[in-house]
Amino acid sequence: MSNRAIEKVEIPRKVLYGKNAVEKLPKILEDLKVRRVIICCGRTATKEIVDSRIVPLVSESKTIMEWEVVELSGDVSELPGIAQRMENSKNTILAVGGGSVIDQAQILSSFSGSPYIAIPTNASHDGFASPYIGFLLRYELDKSMKTGKLPRYVPVSPLAIVGDTVLISQAPFTYLAAGVGDLLAKFVAIKDWEMAHRIKGESFDVYAATFGLMTARLVEKDIDLISKDRSERGVRVLIKAHASSGVAMSIAGSSRPASGSEHLISHALDLMTLTHDTFSGAHHGFQTGIASVVMMYFHGGDWKKQKYLLEKVEVPTTLKEIGIDREIFYEAMRLGQTIRDRYTILNTGITRKALDDALDTIEVD
Ligand SMILES: [Zn+2]
Repeated sequence: MSNRAIEKVEIPRKVLYGKNAVEKLPKILEDLKVRRVIICCGRTATKEIVDSRIVPLVSESKTIMEWEVVELSGDVSELPGIAQRMENSKNTILAVGGGSVIDQAQILSSFSGSPYIAIPTNASHDGFASPYIGFLLRYELDKSMKTGKLPRYVPVSPLAIVGDTVLISQAPFTYLAAGVGDLLAKFVAIKDWEMAHRIKGESFDVYAATFGLMTARLVEKDIDLISKDRSERGVRVLIKAHASSGVAMSIAGSSRPASGSEHLISHALDLMTLTHDTFSGAHHGFQTGIASVVMMYFHGGDWKKQKYLLEKVEVPTTLKEIGIDREIFYEAMRLGQTIRDRYTILNTGITRKALDDALDTIEVD
């Protein structure tokens, strides 16, 4: 980027995390002078949390005049209708749930111009802090936008993040493990970015890259705590790291600091679930985790450490555990490099023979 260009960084105004952080919601809404709230949630578990915890807290806030609960189905075609209802009344969206609910709320925010506050109920990936939505949802959204059925979507950062570590620690440990897989992938993502800078002259933001790398290092440093403790303290580490990853992306103005070849492979696997009968996909963090071990090998980096850290928290480190074989992994590598215009190690022409040799060496079958 030219040093004369204007760079824009949008980051959350408030990030709160810790034990019972959600209890601070009335004060947060008052500080942000929020008057009308649309509480978005899923249809099952998160609806219960909304009814029992969130609604009483929202109605306690002194500034709130109106609130409404909207259960989101996951169907993007219903979002413009909801957004239209919101446009004239200056709402703030409270997104309560996992990645899917928060992503849909972010789309609503983009369509309506209303800000959103993310209240994650698990820490399985950095979606609650990121201005970018999940790959398959974006794919579906782009398809619908081409047919002219949807308004234009632009990525939006949350106005605030409320990470209640007690609430999040009630989600199954597998979500936390997936979050570790998503965060440790940053070690590879930064290597890919540096490579694109060296070989293709792509602009490289040292500040954003350092921030991105720090998130993976935070997890590495506290891996024992996360794996042994399996409670609120481990969740705290992950929430902090995910929130920092979101900031790294905002600084970079792209998902580069958080997403490299390992994410492209995961996105390709997501796409392949639409066409392969035998493969139904795994947690995002499990897919990026295992792909990060293989890509770290091709980068000539410390793949043993990468594998060891994942094993510590029981993130699958074999292809079989995520329901795929060598053939599917190779197909995902090839498809991954075509998904977007992002230069990574996948563009260097890794052969099937090289992949077989790699998999034999690192034993991830
Ligand atoms: Zn991710």
